[in-house]
Amino acid sequence: MAIDQCTRCGKPGDPIEEPLYMGKIEPLIKAHVCVPCWAEWANQRVIIINELRLNLGEADGRKQLKDQMWTFLSLPQQDE
Ligand SMILES: [Zn+2]
Repeated sequence: MAIDQCTRCGKPGDPIEEPLYMGKIEPLIKAHVCVPCWAEWANQRVIIINELRLNLGEADGRKQLKDQMWTFLSLPQQDE
């Protein structure tokens, strides 16, 4: 199903087809983010991990990365 309006670029777009291994937030990402914007995040993710020296082996590092992703993609706020 195509995306009506991507939360990052605001345009309609093709949905992400590949598995993202994001667990329960994966359907939300796929419903809101187009393929080019996800590719942008994939690049930005590497930069952020290096700049903030995130340790993804720790829950805190993973949470920080998720927060950064939420902001970057302008995903809708949700209750945890
Ligand atoms: Zn987009």
